[in-house]
Amino acid sequence: MSRPSTDGPSHLPGEVPGYESHLVPAFRAHKSYVCPTCTQPIAQGTGHVVAWPEGLMEERRHWHRHCWRLAVRRGRVTGARDVR
Ligand SMILES: [Zn+2]
Repeated sequence: MSRPSTDGPSHLPGEVPGYESHLVPAFRAHKSYVCPTCTQPIAQGTGHVVAWPEGLMEERRHWHRHCWRLAVRRGRVTGARDVR
């Protein structure tokens, strides 16, 4: 899998050491997800953030953009597993 690298990575509202995070534009949001912060669905076609612990892409989770920012600020960006 490759990512478009024309303009470099888009700037995210927050970055977390040890995590890869990317914006998913609305047109690429083909599924709906449940946001781990607010437990509300992220509707199909909604731009959002996907993030995963480095090297563990299968652990990736999808966040609302504002929820991601909140989680980053709170240091609460843990998904399915405990990452230290
Ligand atoms: Zn949310």
